[in-house]
Amino acid sequence: MFLAVLVIQGAISLERLAEYRALVDCAKKAAESAYAPYSKTAQGAALLSADGKIFKGAKMECASYGAAVCAETAALTAAISEGVRRFQAIAIHPSEYPCGTSRQMLAEFGINLDVVIEDSSGHIEVVNLRELLPSHFGPHNLS
Ligand SMILES: [Zn+2]
Repeated sequence: MFLAVLVIQGAISLERLAEYRALVDCAKKAAESAYAPYSKTAQGAALLSADGKIFKGAKMECASYGAAVCAETAALTAAISEGVRRFQAIAIHPSEYPCGTSRQMLAEFGINLDVVIEDSSGHIEVVNLRELLPSHFGPHNLS
């Protein structure tokens, strides 16, 4: 299989690329569990901790639309529930960058997070959260 990569921010190693492709595969698997009867868009996310653990999350919609939970937030909540606080990357499927709320929640635990998606051609894209949420509000603003 031909592997291609489009790295928007900086270069990554082949080892890291393989790791991120596996992370995308986990996000695809998580999407199979999504509860999305209203949008019909099943979304999954896989969050890679700094020590190499993967936490999956699936979108959960609700008849009260505002109460829906994004896949990224679900993955983050799963990790936080296990006491994990440091992360390296998050993959999201289908290919979408996190919404504003999810960006803010992810930034709570570190702005240096790779966001990994796979485009429709199978290319892996990596963008750092810092690029998606510049001048973010965080714990440093409350001190
Ligand atoms: Zn979101």
